[in-house]
Amino acid sequence: MSRIIMKFGGTSVADLKRIKIVAERVKNEVDLGNEVAVVVSAMAGTTDQLVKWVENASPNGASPNSASKDHDKEYDSVVAAGEQITSGLLALTLQNMGVEARSWLGWQVCFKTDGLHSSARIENIDTAKMDAALKAGTVCVMAGFQGVSEEGRITTLGRGGSDTSAVALAAALEADRCDIYTDVEGVYTTDPRIVPAAQKLEKITYEEMLEMASLGAKVLQTRSVAMAMNHKVRVQVLSSFTNKPGTMVVDEDEIVENKVVSGIAYANNEARLTITGVENTPGVASNVFSLLAEGNINVDMIIQNRSLDGKETDITFTVPELDLDKAQKILEEAEHISFRDLFTNKNVVKISVIGVGMRSHAGVAANMFKTLADKGINIQVISTSEIKISVLVDSAYTELAVRSLHTAFGLDAVE
Ligand code: ADP
Ligand code: ASP
Ligand code: MG
Repeated sequence: MSRIIMKFGGTSVADLKRIKIVAERVKNEVDLGNEVAVVVSAMAGTTDQLVKWVENASPNGASPNSASKDHDKEYDSVVAAGEQITSGLLALTLQNMGVEARSWLGWQVCFKTDGLHSSARIENIDTAKMDAALKAGTVCVMAGFQGVSEEGRITTLGRGGSDTSAVALAAALEADRCDIYTDVEGVYTTDPRIVPAAQKLEKITYEEMLEMASLGAKVLQTRSVAMAMNHKVRVQVLSSFTNKPGTMVVDEDEIVENKVVSGIAYANNEARLTITGVENTPGVASNVFSLLAEGNINVDMIIQNRSLDGKETDITFTVPELDLDKAQKILEEAEHISFRDLFTNKNVVKISVIGVGMRSHAGVAANMFKTLADKGINIQVISTSEIKISVLVDSAYTELAVRSLHTAFGLDAVE
C-alpha cells in the first residue's frame, strides 16, 4: 500500500465529464489499496475570469498605500473560489461512485501561509486530521492554490500554485509519490505546443526542472520544484488524457547519461530598459539597482558597457513587463542618478538553453549564438549560470529561435 498525492490541473477538471474521468483515475488507485489525497485546480479558464472580475470591480488595483493590502486580501478571497468548486464537485462524483471522499479547503487543512497576498508562501501545514482521514480510507480532495494567513484571511500561492499545494501536501503527509496530471504527457525538451518535434523526457533532474520552470516552462510552478527538491518528493508529471508514463523529476545520480542540453525554455513576460550616458564612477550601478529593489522590482538580466574614453557607461537590464512603467518612473524621478536617454522595449523574449551536462562541456554558448546568427536573430542581452545560458531577443523571433536551437542541440524527435 502506498500513500499518493494526485494533482489535477485546470484542463483535467474543465467540466463534469472530465471530473468523472479524473474520479475514475482516483478510484483505480483506491482499488489498488492506496491511500489517496487529491489536489485540484479550478476548472480551466475560471481563475482568469475571477481575476478579470476583480480588475473590473477595482480598476485601479493595488495602489502603493495601505489600501493595497485590503485590495489584495479581497483579490485572494475571490480568485481562491475556483478551487473550492472543483474540490466539492470531485468529492461528490467520487461519493456517487461509491468511494468515500470529502473536500478540504486550504484553511480546513491548516495550510498556513505568510500574509503576502496573491503570492503567499507556505509556512506550516497541520495534516493531523487529513492523516487520520486517509488512514480511515477516505479520499481527501483538497482545493489547491489556497491557504490561510496568521490573520485568518484566505491567501493564494501565485498563478499555477496548485502544483505547490500538491508538493507541499506530499511532503507534509510523507507521501510515496506526487503525481501531477496535466494536459501534456510529461515534461518535454521544450513547450510541445510551439515545437511539435519536442520529445518527452523520461527523467529530468530537480535542478534542470527548476531552471526550466523559472525560465518560462509553466508545466510546473517554480516554487513546487524548489519544494520537491528540498523535501525529496518524488514528482511525476503525466497526462490525465492518456495512460502513458510521464516524466519523473529525480536526483542527478538517477540519470545515467546526461545530454549537454536537456531543454529549451522561453519567457515573454520581461521587458528591457536601457539608460545611456551614465557617469562611470563607483556606486552608480549600486544606486540604480538599490532604487529598483526598494520599489520591489526584480531585475533579471544586466549588461553594462563602458564608453571608449571610460567616462560614461550604458546600463541595460530586464524587469517583469508588468513593472516596466514603475521602473521607468523610479529612474526618471531619482534625484541622484543622471543619464542622457532612457529606452524601453516590451517586444522581447528571453530564450534559455538548460542542461546539467553544460558543467563539463564547452561550446554550448558558441553553438547557441551561431545558430541564432545563422537565422539573422540579434542577441540583445546574455546571462549565464552553471547550467543555463539565456539570451534576450526580439519577440517576433520566438518560435524561430526555439525551433532552431531545438534542432541545433539535437533535441528533435526522430520520425
Ligand atoms: P495545468 O492546468 O495542468 O496546471 P499548465 O497549463 O499550467 O497545466 O501547464 C501545462 C502546459 O505547460 C502545457 O500545456 C504546455 O503548453 C506548457 N509547457 C511549457 N513548457 C513545457 C515543457 N517543457 N514541457 C511540457 N509542457 C510545457
Ligand atoms: N487556478 C490557479 C491558476 O490558474 C492555480 C492553478 O491552476 O495551479 O493559476
Ligand atoms: Mg499549471
